[in-house]
Amino acid sequence: MRYSKIRKMDIADGPGVRVSVFLQGCTFHCKECFNPETWDFKGGKEFNDEVIEEILELCDKEYIVGLSILGGEPMHPKNIEGTIKLAKSFKEKFPNKTIWSWTGFLIENIVNKEILNYLDVLVDGQFQRELRDPRLKWRGSSNQRVIDVQKTLKKEKIVLYEE
Ligand code: SF4
Repeated sequence: MRYSKIRKMDIADGPGVRVSVFLQGCTFHCKECFNPETWDFKGGKEFNDEVIEEILELCDKEYIVGLSILGGEPMHPKNIEGTIKLAKSFKEKFPNKTIWSWTGFLIENIVNKEILNYLDVLVDGQFQRELRDPRLKWRGSSNQRVIDVQKTLKKEKIVLYEE
């Protein structure tokens, strides 16, 4: 897996001050994607154990409330194992901090559902230009869902995130 960039202090992608990781590679190619430079799976930099350590170190600060994993496409079959490794390592070290992630897949269509065990919130669905609404929080278009993943797993039906 490869990644595009890490933001050490991000206040735009999820609540509070977070560390954000933008993974590399996405095949959805949504019109007016906010991040087309992340589409190429060969772009960016190598994502390895050292990068995971670096991310965990950045998260090990009192003011960092969680990790956000964006893309590119974190849930693409080529990226999902790396995403799981990152999310699992994070939750082992910081069980009280949250993970938010964004994907173009619907939650029902994610190939490796192990990732759901580690996520607090998942914003799912492709960005659709014709449904774009700048008033929406955490999502670009109204078809996307901000899902409370742990409640969804427990109730076995989609539960939306409430602040
Ligand atoms: S899924 Fe996300 S990264 Fe991929 S094209 Fe759509 S908006 Fe861009």
